[in-house]
Amino acid sequence: MPVDDYLVTIGLEVHCQINTATKMFCTCRAGFGYEPNTNVCPTCLGMPGALPVLNEYAIERTILAGLLLDCRIPEISKWDRKNYFYPDMPKNYQTSQLDLPLCMGGSVPLYEWAFPPHTKLPASQDGVVRRVQLDHIHLEEDAAKLTHYAGYSLVDYNRGGTPLMEIVSAPDLHTPDEAYAYLKSLQQMMICAGISHADMEKGEMRCDVNVSLRPKGQEELGAKIEMKNINSMSAARRALIYEIRRQAEELDAGIAQVQSTRRWDDALGESVVMRTKENAHDYRYHTCPDLIPIHTAPLVERVKQNIQELPNARRQRLMEEYGLPSADATALVSDGELCTYFEAATKENKAPTKKVANWVLNTLSGVLAEKNVSLAECPVSPSALADLVGIVEQGVVSTSQAREVLELMWAHPEKSAADAADQLGYKKADAGELESMVDRVLAENPDMVELVRAGNAKLVNALTGKVMKVAQPKPNPKLVTQLILARLKV
Ligand SMILES: [Zn+2]
Repeated sequence: MPVDDYLVTIGLEVHCQINTATKMFCTCRAGFGYEPNTNVCPTCLGMPGALPVLNEYAIERTILAGLLLDCRIPEISKWDRKNYFYPDMPKNYQTSQLDLPLCMGGSVPLYEWAFPPHTKLPASQDGVVRRVQLDHIHLEEDAAKLTHYAGYSLVDYNRGGTPLMEIVSAPDLHTPDEAYAYLKSLQQMMICAGISHADMEKGEMRCDVNVSLRPKGQEELGAKIEMKNINSMSAARRALIYEIRRQAEELDAGIAQVQSTRRWDDALGESVVMRTKENAHDYRYHTCPDLIPIHTAPLVERVKQNIQELPNARRQRLMEEYGLPSADATALVSDGELCTYFEAATKENKAPTKKVANWVLNTLSGVLAEKNVSLAECPVSPSALADLVGIVEQGVVSTSQAREVLELMWAHPEKSAADAADQLGYKKADAGELESMVDRVLAENPDMVELVRAGNAKLVNALTGKVMKVAQPKPNPKLVTQLILARLKV
């Protein structure tokens, strides 16, 4: 029977690295880009006798995530050991939380703007299409990073022990588009609240998806098939589209599905079975004897005082505070880091906010994509970009000249926008000088002037070109055109 005749149930488990300076149970530095195996100590290497010390900030950030997602915070939360043997976990157990996690229940709003483009959406209230129920959020430590080569593997324990939040949804999603919107909404909430950078490409946010199918009318859920470690939203969507079709075809052919874990190969566009059946009891969870349970009440009180705004509130504020049109505000909110950059750029009132938004959303984003550089690595600071927009507004450079200035600032971040423009020979021409130059060009081209006066507007550009050719320093062509039009009174 057609895929549409099956009820699809999807659940997502999202791992999110928390922005902390240090690891979860020791004082080693957390973060990317360090020499492998340099941020390690006896505790995160699982040496005998080394004891864990809790990272309170990571606990607070997890509680913050829980409060933002309307979770209940149990009064007591405890730590459990999840036992398994694998080279990415030198202790042979992961410190995690099983039955008393930091956050329970709650829900994730599916923001309208978080759906893939061209999705047909039902009517939404305040930009939220619906809320997806959460099961819980727990805190654990990340495993080390394994890199596999032909015949051998390398392990980097720098990542081992990094605070990792696991956000587990109820089986409450029904389409691959919803799964995409769930990931996007959640990611932007985490970035907006400063909980995680949540960059999926860097593995700061990773997701496991599970999906089951059952014929319409059947109460009991079908066998749950899980795909682990999916590293982009579009890959999650593709994996689900594939898996739903695959399961439907097998069910049609009378092949019963078995609870199992499959590996999604995004390049090949298919999933292959890895292992069947795996339950919590396989891990022999037990309470961690080294860590005492947490009394959450004082932490909750503290976190409540620092609750930040959520993406939809931010969108509203961008429109009210900066007078941005809804499309710009939506675009900025759907990329939290870009939004923070924009707000930083508007701080000193160097240029109109609408222009700054245009530059951030169009020019800067374009250059970042072209150079394949993330915003965090962008050499041009928000304040320097605001200066550049400012000199465009003052007429020192035209928009296209400003692109060249931006390139120079990119290569030499120490140069200010004005200095970079200066080096390229772009200066705001002296008004009197420019006027006399325009007069001279007009006097030298009486035929063209005659035709412009007779209505040939195109020739204005040609006259502008002539002024641009002789003018030194190079003026803003827009300004030249304005002067010509004013002189000819057309
Ligand atoms: Zn350590």
